[in-house]
Amino acid sequence: MFSQKEKIQEEKFELLRREMVQSQLERRNLKDQRVLEAMRKVPRHRFVPEQSRSEAYDDHPLPIGEGQTISQPYMVAIMTELLELRGGEKVLEIGTGSGYQLAILAELAREVFSVERLGPLADRSRARLRELGYRNIEIRTGDGTIGWPERAPFDGIIVTAGAPKIPLPLVEQLSEGGRLVIPVGEERRQELYRVVKEGGGTRKEYFGGCVFVPLVGEHGWDVG
Ligand code: SAH
Repeated sequence: MFSQKEKIQEEKFELLRREMVQSQLERRNLKDQRVLEAMRKVPRHRFVPEQSRSEAYDDHPLPIGEGQTISQPYMVAIMTELLELRGGEKVLEIGTGSGYQLAILAELAREVFSVERLGPLADRSRARLRELGYRNIEIRTGDGTIGWPERAPFDGIIVTAGAPKIPLPLVEQLSEGGRLVIPVGEERRQELYRVVKEGGGTRKEYFGGCVFVPLVGEHGWDVG
């Protein structure tokens, strides 16, 4: 339960959230109403460190510890929109980080899975998402570039770290018609790709430049 002071705080954050959806997402032409609704609902300020709460709804990424970042709201929204979720899907995320993207996915799909390389981030996110009441989420610690074969196939896979190339295991773990959304490119600059698995092959589309922390693993970058 919230105290009176916390209640006022929460209302303030809700207002900031509405403004964020309008000025950062709708104004930039994001149209999937379910995604916009999820972005209006999930309390992003609960996923950032205490000292940066006041910036939680600003138009940029934020540090979350361990040298990692929570993506800019617009990037979360556009990647989610590209998955075209309708509610019945099984989805895999690589790079749990703060757990924010995962909460958005949990609002929009039936079952969501996430792999995080760094144990402390995985543990913190698991606890946070439980506290917020999410029950359709499973997180494991490990190298997500090999996917999660025991839970495959997935209707959607989203990678929230920058890859040097598309990890083959992720394409293999897509269901027919499944979509993989992933930033691919150099260590400091990538391009957003969507790979759709169709009729025994794949179709690739590009959605512009982006900047993510490196995807480190067997089918990613070498540990630095
Ligand atoms: N989606 C997150 C942002 C993630 S930042 C959010 O909403 O907050 C990228 C994350 O990918 C980091 O936490 C990093 O540790 C993780 N990561 C990097 N390489 C990985 C790998 N091979 N497998 C799993 N996670 C990885």
